[in-house]
Amino acid sequence: MDFKFTEQQEMLRAMVREFVERECPKHLVRKWDEEKKFPLEVFHKLMSLGLSGVAIPTKYGGMGGSIIDYAIVCEELARSGSWGLGSYFNAVVMYGADIILNCGNEEQKQLFLPKFAKGEMRFAYGITEPDSGSDAAAAKTSAVDKGDHFVLNGTKMFITLGDDVDYTVTLARTDKNLPKHKGLSLLLVDTKSKGYSAKPLKKIAGYTDTTCELVFDNVIVPKSMVLGGPEMINHGWELLLRTLEIEHLLVAANALGYAQVAFDDSLQYAKDRYAFGQPIGKFQAISHMLAEMAVDLHLARLSVCHLAWLKANDMPCYKESCITKLVATECWTKIALRGMEILGGYSLTMDFDMQRYLRDSFILLIGGGTKQIQKNMIARAIGL
Ligand SMILES: Cc1cc2nc3c(=O)[nH]c(=O)nc-3n(C[C@H](O)[C@H](O)[C@H](O)COP(=O)(O)OP(=O)(O)OC[C@H]3O[C@@H](n4cnc5c(N)ncnc54)[C@H](O)[C@@H]3O)c2cc1C
Repeated sequence: MDFKFTEQQEMLRAMVREFVERECPKHLVRKWDEEKKFPLEVFHKLMSLGLSGVAIPTKYGGMGGSIIDYAIVCEELARSGSWGLGSYFNAVVMYGADIILNCGNEEQKQLFLPKFAKGEMRFAYGITEPDSGSDAAAAKTSAVDKGDHFVLNGTKMFITLGDDVDYTVTLARTDKNLPKHKGLSLLLVDTKSKGYSAKPLKKIAGYTDTTCELVFDNVIVPKSMVLGGPEMINHGWELLLRTLEIEHLLVAANALGYAQVAFDDSLQYAKDRYAFGQPIGKFQAISHMLAEMAVDLHLARLSVCHLAWLKANDMPCYKESCITKLVATECWTKIALRGMEILGGYSLTMDFDMQRYLRDSFILLIGGGTKQIQKNMIARAIGL
């Protein structure tokens, strides 16, 4: 058993951490949240480091690393505490590069991967609909075959950055006569297409990205833009499952980074805040809370590292991916909740970040599959 990262991976981690410390100081991250706007120039600076290409093969313009490298970058970006920074990176890597790498045909890899490697392209993931979230295969958005293209009609809900990406990977029903999970395809919909519109929803968290309702009104999608190529028409569900483990891993790596910053802030506060003549961290009630938070963080980190290793080595990891998504996202919420207690009255002010960590943590508890759905999948995986 070897728990060490490689020298290159340690260098990668140090490079992202240095970027975050330089470009995302706490006061700016707080200001972006207050202004509900993530500054894209910070994202472009990040992209100029080539980080979006770390796990893209060299023949497509990347650095040829593994999914472990993406997990490291996701965790370190999240340690900024900036929801937007992580979300924009995910639009390039989680919903872009990784989907094309795992599901695209050769033509699509050649077309898109060099752009992802340079950070010049972003994708959204259009699965959820107003009437179907957990039950994603009940999607009603329809794509009617017109020979060399489909005509797409329908509505998607809660689509991250649906108004600020180049393409939306869209789950659509391409054959109404096939059983529920069979007649679906994933279409790469150009967001500049006539008939595509995106409306950001008002929400209580994740102020530095958008969550959109999308409407497709007779949008034309060429057959070359079926994910995986025309031979994958009606195999969309299969492809969606193929992307699930990586989505779980990167969501969990994100959650781990955000949980870490919530823990660090709580610990610092417990050392700095005095009551009854001593730092509050000296009270057993507070120190035990912090000890429990350290335990949760440790277990979440082990789970993320193990999953990253399984995935990088092409080993089966469906159950582990559900466990890790559940453990890491719950860890973030639990740590932020305890952090609220430790910060006392200040936790409710906008001058401290704990309230934001708590609000934002709810997104990852839901996005990518709720905890009830993870438990259903784990139960199935253990034979129930
Ligand atoms: C900020 C944000 C960003 C998002 N980004 C995206 C995105 O980019 N792309 C995308 O496609 N979607 C996105 N989503 C949608 C997200 O994936 C869904 O909200 C999620 O899958 C749950 O679906 P739902 O909200 O329709 O809840 P429902 O499916 O209606 O579930 C409601 C409740 O019932 C429970 N439930 C449902 N079915 C079962 C069951 N079989 N067993 C036990 N309990 C069950 C759920 O766990 C939940 O507690 C985002 C959501 C949010 C909040």
